[in-house]
Amino acid sequence: MSSEDVALDMIRSSIILLLSEKPLHGYGIMKEVEDRIGRPVNPSLLYPFLRQLEKNGLVKSTKKPVGHKPKNVYELTAPGKELAASIYKRIASMVSLAIKPNLSICFHCGCKIYEGGYRESIRDKERIFCCIHCAQAYKNEQSQS
Ligand SMILES: [Zn+2]
Repeated sequence: MSSEDVALDMIRSSIILLLSEKPLHGYGIMKEVEDRIGRPVNPSLLYPFLRQLEKNGLVKSTKKPVGHKPKNVYELTAPGKELAASIYKRIASMVSLAIKPNLSICFHCGCKIYEGGYRESIRDKERIFCCIHCAQAYKNEQSQS
């Protein structure tokens, strides 16, 4: 798969996810995609894709007045919403795969630390905590037991 295919897939996925938030007309989709991923969607990609989604029963369009003239507003159907949910899941598992190696676990509360954290040597062992307060709480508990 070329990197262009992946990008296209990302744009297609973004379009479906946007529609899962609210119904949008074509121009609204283009604007939102550009705002969020910083890249414009080519109308020659968008409209055929919307027609394809509609043909597959994933999206339905209705004419609604936007400004002075009616425009097609697109919204997901029930199967379209299911597709959006599965895209969300796929992205979530990709994201967790990408960030997992960078996660540390707070030695006191067990929460996951994505960035930073607080390190302190306790009895010659370096421990990582989510914050200085957790480190303090851990030391308090140790001195009580
Ligand atoms: Zn903690």
